[in-house]
Amino acid sequence: MIRLLMALALLLIPALARAEAPAEGQRLILVTMDGTRWQEVFRGPDKALVEDKRFTHPDMRELIEKAWISGPGAKKGAGGAALMPFLHSLPARGGLLVGNRDEAQCMAVTNPMWFSYPGYNEIFTGRADPAITSNDKNWNRNVTFFEWLAHRPGFAGKVLAFGNWDVFPYIINDQRSGVPVNPGFAGRYPTETLTMRAALDALREKKPRVLYVGLGDTDEFAHMGRYDDTLGAINRNDDFLAELWRQVEADPVYRGKTTLIVTTDHGRGSAPGAAWTEHGSAESVRLDPAGFTIPDPAGFPGSEQIWLAAIGPTVHDAPLGAACLGQNQIAASALTALGEDWRAFDAGAGAPLPIFTRR
Ligand SMILES: [Zn+2]
Repeated sequence: MIRLLMALALLLIPALARAEAPAEGQRLILVTMDGTRWQEVFRGPDKALVEDKRFTHPDMRELIEKAWISGPGAKKGAGGAALMPFLHSLPARGGLLVGNRDEAQCMAVTNPMWFSYPGYNEIFTGRADPAITSNDKNWNRNVTFFEWLAHRPGFAGKVLAFGNWDVFPYIINDQRSGVPVNPGFAGRYPTETLTMRAALDALREKKPRVLYVGLGDTDEFAHMGRYDDTLGAINRNDDFLAELWRQVEADPVYRGKTTLIVTTDHGRGSAPGAAWTEHGSAESVRLDPAGFTIPDPAGFPGSEQIWLAAIGPTVHDAPLGAACLGQNQIAASALTALGEDWRAFDAGAGAPLPIFTRR
């Protein structure tokens, strides 16, 4: 009998070990494009905003139309494919884009604010924190999935974050979390292109298992009312993503075991006219009426709407279901892509998006 039990145990142990062991060497890259609307991602440039002199310099109009709307460069694909060719190439490479409301896909933030700190907190922790009501430099009391990972076996020193917004160290809480923000030029915030360069260099030289890159020019230019520059920033971000993915595919450390997730912290107003320059809920406008160039007590409907793109070995096509997908599902998705148990991080976090499977 004992011999039989031992034989059974020997049979079971490897099976259990297989089920429990985190997948060897799965890696994750998360990139956010601050306040980038699904409208530009999926539809491409909004012609009314390109033709509006308040938002697009008249000298730029023809260039923009040729490059990204009607010219030969835009012919390759409809809508946003000319503006973001890399992102729109993902489905053909086994990746996915979700959040196209023109195709009845819904994705939105679950926090009540519809601006940056609450959005990044939701992305990084898997839940909205109603106590976060400003972008002030407050050390985040919540533990992000970056911080949780940094204390897991195999991840210490292997979770790196880059961003050109000086609130990221507070949201990621680099004092406490063990996740350095902008290592190599700590505390300094260079142009976005230098931030991109630093992230690419870190990927090549430091080989992090988790890399986060927070890009902010899209939001900065939009707040200035520069639609031409906003489109330029979106296009440049797409170039960066293409370069990042080329580097992943060329590096045996990353190739075939890296999941890339691209998303945004919030959308922007969708009403005609100047609403696109702003974002925020009625509640956030009530809290800070002076913080908006168009003080609208109703807030900026549409800025709760977000999107997500993903590619990698853990990403597969799956029915999205009828319910609107939530920003609070991104943390669990990221952990699932890494082969980690998201419930061990936070059982109350939003469940992984159905397009991610654990490997
Ligand atoms: Zn903003």
